Order: sequence, then C-alpha cells, then structure tokens
Amino acid sequence: MSYPHLTSPLTIGDLTLRNRIVMGSMHTGLEDMRWDIPKLAAYFAERARGGTGLIITGGYSPNKRGWLKPLASELSTRLQAMRHREITGAVHDEGGAIALQVLHAGRYGYHPLSVSASTRKSPITPFKPSALSTKGVDRTATDFANSIALARKAGYDAVEVMGSEGYLINQFLAARTNDRTDAWGGTATKRMQFPLEIVRRARELVGEEFPIIYRISLLDLVEGGQTWDETLDLAHALEESGVSVFNTGIGWHEARVPTIITQVPRAAWRSYTARLKAEVSVPVCASNRINTPDMAEQILSAGEADLISMARPLLADPEFANKAAAGRADEINTCIACNQACLDHVFKNQKASCLVNPRACHETTLVLAPTRTKRTVAVVGAGPAGLAAATSAAERGFAVTLFEAAPQIGGQFRLAMQIPGKEDFAETLRYFGRRLEVLGVEVKLNTQANATDLASYDEVIVATGVAPRVPAIDGVERAVRYDEVLNGSVTPGKRVAVIGAGGIGVDVSHFLSHDPADTDEDWMAHWGVGDPAVHRGGLTDPKPRTPIREVTLVQRKTTPIGIGLGKTSGWAHRAVLKQSGVVQVSGASYDRIDERGLHVTVDGEQRLIEADTVVLCAGQESVRGLYDELADAGVNVHLIGGADLAAELDAKRAIDQGTRVVAALTG
Ligand code: FAD
Ligand code: NAP
Ligand code: SF4
Repeated sequence: MSYPHLTSPLTIGDLTLRNRIVMGSMHTGLEDMRWDIPKLAAYFAERARGGTGLIITGGYSPNKRGWLKPLASELSTRLQAMRHREITGAVHDEGGAIALQVLHAGRYGYHPLSVSASTRKSPITPFKPSALSTKGVDRTATDFANSIALARKAGYDAVEVMGSEGYLINQFLAARTNDRTDAWGGTATKRMQFPLEIVRRARELVGEEFPIIYRISLLDLVEGGQTWDETLDLAHALEESGVSVFNTGIGWHEARVPTIITQVPRAAWRSYTARLKAEVSVPVCASNRINTPDMAEQILSAGEADLISMARPLLADPEFANKAAAGRADEINTCIACNQACLDHVFKNQKASCLVNPRACHETTLVLAPTRTKRTVAVVGAGPAGLAAATSAAERGFAVTLFEAAPQIGGQFRLAMQIPGKEDFAETLRYFGRRLEVLGVEVKLNTQANATDLASYDEVIVATGVAPRVPAIDGVERAVRYDEVLNGSVTPGKRVAVIGAGGIGVDVSHFLSHDPADTDEDWMAHWGVGDPAVHRGGLTDPKPRTPIREVTLVQRKTTPIGIGLGKTSGWAHRAVLKQSGVVQVSGASYDRIDERGLHVTVDGEQRLIEADTVVLCAGQESVRGLYDELADAGVNVHLIGGADLAAELDAKRAIDQGTRVVAALTG
C-alpha cells in the first residue's frame, strides 16, 4: 500500500516538511535536567532518521510559575536556548525538522507556585493556584512570546503553543476556571485575549515566516468547557493574529472521558478536526488515537486534515515514516495505546519508554550491537518475552531458532487481544510475526521443546511464561479458567462469578459483560460525548450500557477493586465495570463452588453468589521446569518473562527483559 497524501511535502512559512507525519509533543522526563540533553538529542535524532516530517518536543514552560513540577523544563533564558542547539543540530543532521512546544501548566503545576486564571484548584493536583493579577497575565503573555523567540534562536524550525488539554491557556478560555472581571475574563471574547496576545506578541518577535503552531482544544470534555462557537471564534481570531497551523487537542487532563487509551476507537475524534478544517484557511493537524499509516492516509485523503500528529506511535517505532514510505507498513511496530511505559511512567515521575519498544528514550544505553560471531541461540516460548528475545538476537546477527508449543505465536498476549478495547494488541503479534520472517528466524510452532532438543545451542533463552493458578477451593473442578473463556473453548452462562480481581479479573469481567453489538458511536454515547455545538464542553448524559451477563467480581483483599491498574487507564477500566453493572465483592474468603454458584464468607457472613459459571482469574504461576533441567545440565541458559517471575508480570516487563538479556549476550 502506498500513502500518496501522507508522504507529500507541505510548506508552512519558511519551513518545508518532507511529509505530513508530525511527532506530537509528549513529555518523556528527559526534558527537565540539562545532563539528559544528549539522551534527548539521540531520541529525537533516531525519529528524524526514521523520516518523521516534524518533531514537536515535550512542553517547556515560559517561566517558573508555569512549571509542570518543581525544576521542570523551562525556556526563558539565552543560556537555556543555547543548550538546545545540541537537540536541534542532531535533528537537522538527520534531515529532520523540530518544533519546541511552549506549555504553561497553570493549575496543573505540581508545586506550590502554580498560578491560574482563578484560584480554583484542579481535581487532579493537590495545590491550589494563585490567581494571576491583571499585570501578571500581561507578563505571562510576554514570557510566552520571549520563549518562542528563544526557541527560534536555539535553531528550532517552529514552535507550538499549548492551548489545550486543560493547561493555563485552556484555563483562561473556559468559564469553568476563568471567573475574572478584568480585561482577561468576563465574556468569551475577553477570555480569549490571553492566547491572542501571546500569538500577536510572538509574531512581532519572530517575523512573518516563522511557523507558529497553536494546539487548540476541540472538545474540552469538562463541565463549563467551551462551546463549538467559542472554539471557532477563537480559531478565526488566532488565524488573524498570525497562527500558521492548528494542531488539535481533545479533553482536559481532568476529563472523565478517556481520549487516547486502547479502548478509545481509532481516530475517534477525526470528525471534529474535519469541522475545524472546513472553517479555517491554515493547515490543520489531526491527533489522538491515530496509530497506522492507513488511518492517517484515510483522514488526509478525505480532506479532513493536512497533517497527522502521532506521539506515542513514533515512540513505539522511530522508523514509522520510512517504513510507510517504502511500502513496508506491515513492519511497523504499532503503538497499542496502553500508556503503560509512556504516560504511566511520566505521571509517576519516571522516564518514559514504550512497552513494545523498550529502546525508546534509552537509545544511548540499550543498544543491540551487531555480533562478531555467528553463534546459535534457541529461544523457548513465543510469548512477548520470547518474541522480543528472538527478534533482538536475530537483529544482532545470531542464528536464532524459536520454539513454541502452541500453533501460533503470542502466549498470554493472544488472550489479552480478545478483551474489548484491546484489539490493537493483535498489531504487536503481527509486528513480531513479520519481524521473525524479515530477520530469518527459524520458527518451530507446535513444538514443545525439551532439554535434548536444546543441548546443541550456544545460548538458550527460556521464556516459557506462566500458567493460570488453580486455587485450592472446595469444588474448584466445577470452575473454568480465564484462558478457556477467552480462547472460546468454554461458553459461560448468563450469571458468572469471577474469582480474582487483578488485571485479568477486571478484563475478563469486561469481556463477559460487554455487548459485542456496540459500535464506535455507542462508545461515544456510553461516555457521554455530545456535539459541542449543542452541549457545552461536548458533554452530555451518558447512555447506559446493556450488559449481556450478570457478573460478580470477587477478591479476598479489602482494598478497592482495580486499584493496582495503570495510573492513566485504571480509572477508565474501573468506570467501565461500574457502567456495566459488574457487582464487586471485596474481603471475601472462598468456601466452596457447587451447582448453585460460589459460596463465600464476607465480614463473617456466609453468602451465595448465584452463578451458572465460575471463572478463575486467581493469578499465575511460572512455568520453569525446563529451565531448571537445563541449568542442572550446565547449559548456558537464561530465564526471562513470566517464567522468571510470575508476580506483577506484564508484557512491559516481559519485552524489556527479553530485549535486555540479548543486548547483554557476549559476541
Ligand atoms: P507467556 O505469554 O505466557 O508466553 C509463554 C509461551 O511459552 C507460551 O506461548 C507457551 O505456549 C510457550 N511455552 C511454554 N513452554 C514451552 C515449551 N517447553 N516449548 C515451547 N513453548 C513453550 N500485559 C500487559 O502488559 N498489559 C495488558 O493490558 C495486559 N492485559 C492482559 C489481559 C489478559 C486477559 C491476559 C491473559 C494477559 C494480559 N497481560 C497484559 C499480560 C501479558 O499477556 C503477559 O504478561 C505476557 O504475555 C507474559 O509474557 P511471557 O512471554 O513471559 O509469557
Ligand atoms: P494479579 O494482578 O496478580 O491478580 C491475581 C488475583 O488473583 C489477585 O487479585 C488475587 O486477589 C487473586 N488470587 C491470588 N491468589 C489466589 C488464590 N490462591 N486464591 C484465590 N485468589 C487468588 O494477576 P492477574 O490478574 O492474573 O494478571 C497477571 C498480570 O497481567 C498482572 O500482573 C498484570 O500486570 C497483567 N495485566 C495487566 C493489565 C493492564 O491493564 N495493565 C490487564 C490484565 C493483566 P486476592 O488475593 O485479593 O484474592
Ligand atoms: Fe504506545 Fe504503550 Fe508504547 Fe505508550 S507504552 S507508546 S501507549 S505502546
């Protein structure tokens, strides 16, 4: 497949982009300290080498009050600007273009110096902001303009002004957070003066041709957010003030509607971008949950946007653009929108990386150096850990054989992709499958490897994974395991009790209650997304779900169910359970399972949870007999993934470990 629209150049002011692929802004944690600049430069350079049209950095604050957290990234001095030359130079050396994003966190600043349009605290930060004085707003607009001028001096090809996602500019725009009575608030026209002043002042400093991108909030998805008319008025006024491109943003960080995680349908928000594009004359960039070149091409060819922003997909595969251009889209390592190694890390104050590409943000330290010898490597198990190990070893130049007992690759990940909203996980298996072919790995499916088969290899990597735990409960032989439910070998009845409320118990409860007839439009309706031309902020009353089964989810712990799920996605998984009417029981001890269902004791009281089917999601145990045998026989053997440690296993750890074990192999 070719992508004529995606691969065509675009000129904006004095900048010509080689294609329409924009790597959207995303904080990685490498922006904040100057000693991380070489790592950041290497990270961006790899994406520029991969053919990306335009890279946008993570957000840099125009002053201290706008920090995201204490000592966070800032661009307000010449000295800071000069340090950025290492980044811009590295990108230019690879033929790429790079823009700096200027972001003032406003009340999302995680520090006591935060400021906003008013003193209204955000529901997601503990700090109450101070309200900027009238002069303070004026000074902040000037700080933005100075930061933009400094970015130009630092060699950036463009800037992006962050006007969405609920940060300071958005806080000025929405009545929800702006109750001012001075020149910067009171009416929609006055609320929009702050971004207009920023753009006007910046334009004066950088001249007519330097591209200023403005990230506009198309849907705030919060009560008291903007109406569509207000958004359009703002867009027209910004265009007149000198904005060169509109990038688009969806939802404030505090919104209770998921906007980018896996369960959000692909390109869910494209129609809003198309509506903006029809109204303005400058180029418009679509964003959020666009992760394949096919989808990007579709949007461009339909005339809904001029550019496509993909942040996480470029973290997942730095060569996305080159592969698309060369007709090798089937080799793209697709972002599965899990947030597990990127946003979850950033929100926990850790450096970002990527579940499917652990080299992301570790380009200088996690290196798969070519081997000087042609030694043989056997990998046992084609789950995420084994797949990462086999492809990494082949990439280094080892002669690799991969053994898999099942008829297909994937291991537990093949079960994960059956969960509604995790369909994209199939892309990871498509990627690994193709990568095995391209790299010439010998794949032996339907082959249970034993110690004799492996004796002749120079290195053996055991990735035999996990098996579901079957707990010792009276009558447990009446229950079924989660893998039997998800692989379709068992069809559960109408009333189901689920034992174990970890990640898999929550997923299986969703799988059991979800109505497969639900469409993407239903998804929007369940989350209460409405037309912003009718409903302020794009929020309306949610349409109830129609669960197809009565599900009761049970755990022994007394902590809230799903509390250990991902930082940026767990809340949405928990909300789906609630929307689906899944009954949650904590603090239970299991008495027995019989033909009536699951008997438990809760708070000293015996109860029957009536159920036609009881499903076991009680964790996993490592499958490591083969490893022990090989180690005893003195074979050069390595143990990775769930086979190494079942507790708190996820695909992030499995893939990371599989890659690192190979990077460390001598040769
Ligand atoms: P496994 O996936 O268990 O793979 C081991 C493989 O080894 C299997 O294919 C097995 O057949 C093979 N094997 C075993 N013995 C032999 C032998 N002797 N010879 C040949 N082959 C052998 N993780 C996340 O990070 N995010 C999620 O959102 C997520 N959701 C999930 C949802 C569900 C419903 C499930 C079930 C899992 C989910 N996971 C998720 C967990 C993730 O799938 C696992 O952590 C991951 O698959 C573990 O990888 P692994 O390679 O260590 O083991
Ligand atoms: P888990 O998170 O460890 O949960 C296992 C559950 O089983 C626990 O809730 C535990 O709860 C219960 N349990 C453990 N031993 C039991 C016993 N002997 N009898 C009865 N109940 C028992 O594991 P999982 O749900 O199997 O998930 C495996 C891994 O996959 C997880 O570590 C997770 O990281 C990953 N995963 C991630 C996601 C995601 O969205 N990121 C989704 C799915 C899976 P009590 O002890 O309280 O009863
Ligand atoms: Fe995408 Fe997950 Fe990687 Fe983040 S961690 S870039 S969401 S695949």
